[in-house]
Amino acid sequence: MQYFDTLSNQIVEFVPREPGKVSIYACGPTVYDVPHLGHARTQLTYDVIARFFRWQGLEVTLVSNITDIDDKIIARAAAENTTEEAIATTYTEAYIEQMHRLGIADPDHRPRATEYVDQMLDVITQLIDTDHAYVIDGSGVYFDVASFEDDYGALVHRSAEDLREGAGQRVEVDERKRDPLDFALWKAAKPGEPTWESPWGPGRPGWHIECVAMALDILGDGFDLHGGGTDLMFPHHENERAESEACGHRFARGWIHSAMLNIGGEKMSKSLNNFRTLGDVLDTWDPRALRLAMLQTHYRRVMELGDEAMQGATAALDRFDAFARRVSVIDLPEATTLPDEIAAFTAAMENDFGTPAAVATIFELVRAGHTALDADDLASAAAIGATIDELTAVLGLVPPAADTGDDAAEIDDLVAQRQAARDSKDFAESDRIRDLLSERGIEIEDSAAGPIWRRV
Ligand SMILES: [Zn+2]
Repeated sequence: MQYFDTLSNQIVEFVPREPGKVSIYACGPTVYDVPHLGHARTQLTYDVIARFFRWQGLEVTLVSNITDIDDKIIARAAAENTTEEAIATTYTEAYIEQMHRLGIADPDHRPRATEYVDQMLDVITQLIDTDHAYVIDGSGVYFDVASFEDDYGALVHRSAEDLREGAGQRVEVDERKRDPLDFALWKAAKPGEPTWESPWGPGRPGWHIECVAMALDILGDGFDLHGGGTDLMFPHHENERAESEACGHRFARGWIHSAMLNIGGEKMSKSLNNFRTLGDVLDTWDPRALRLAMLQTHYRRVMELGDEAMQGATAALDRFDAFARRVSVIDLPEATTLPDEIAAFTAAMENDFGTPAAVATIFELVRAGHTALDADDLASAAAIGATIDELTAVLGLVPPAADTGDDAAEIDDLVAQRQAARDSKDFAESDRIRDLLSERGIEIEDSAAGPIWRRV
């Protein structure tokens, strides 16, 4: 298994810390608003990575946090005249609901920042004790970047000096900090904000310390993989790494970053006014079509998502579901999976989680499956079907169990009658049946693989 490691900046062999086990930490959302497509892409990346490792027989522990205390949550609570807790609860629920709609499995642990303050205080204490952090009275506790000078910037492959120049140009640098790169581990209480007690006075934790405390507590030193979107590489992940390694805790041994998402050719950003929520997209399209569209772009490539991509994914899913429907109404012989196709899929995934090639393997199978059914080659269709079932589960693209409606068998029957009428060139009859189905909200598409029906 090879993957691209951001820290070493190259393709590396995946060697787990403990044989047979994989520990993964993927940064989760700050819950001040409904989730957007960027959250979906990032979480889908780690969902599929975890599914693949599990399928390979590894024991996976996936941790993904919820940042439930933050400037944006405080601002929204003030604007809506409610509590930070109420805002965080509302948007945590919205996030989990939308992730479920997209078929993203719950992580094994979903820690909340507010439940981890004690562990964060512990790491901050270790940093102060090892002279990697200092207190500014009335402001908080800061990480001393100069004390970690040689290694700071390693994740983004820039020197601390180079990064310092950029930071120094920003206007809001606190004059009392020793270095413009220094960042808050603990923020002293401001009026009206939620606070926790600490040895340095009441306040609240900085963002980066949260992931360090959670990852080290749940996964332990030197865990296998740390993930997140590329937008988190700097400063968030660089700072997380500095905090942990500076006080003697080996942090993640490997780093995986998923690329950003553009919608309709523009970078997705709230400020560009083309922000679409994940809920909007899932209301409009089959959630599996979004999953498929995302998996058809490699996680390290910037993704362009628009109606065209969604239409393409929807059409591909239709062919796929049509095969599932065709095999659901016939008795297929017992069959085992096809070793060559399983091997091709595995090779694609072992090449830096190459989901586009893995998806292509499945769609080749779907094509072959329709051909086998058309030729009444039930033995081949059965083996292909078994292979498709196995592989689609790894990618979370399992078709719904045939059609769930009570009248599905009746519709199948009408569709078959219409096809028989067409075959005997009785177009008046085939049109009559089509209209009948249309009145019931059933649309038929005559594909090369035979008629495909769906509810509209
Ligand atoms: Zn994080």
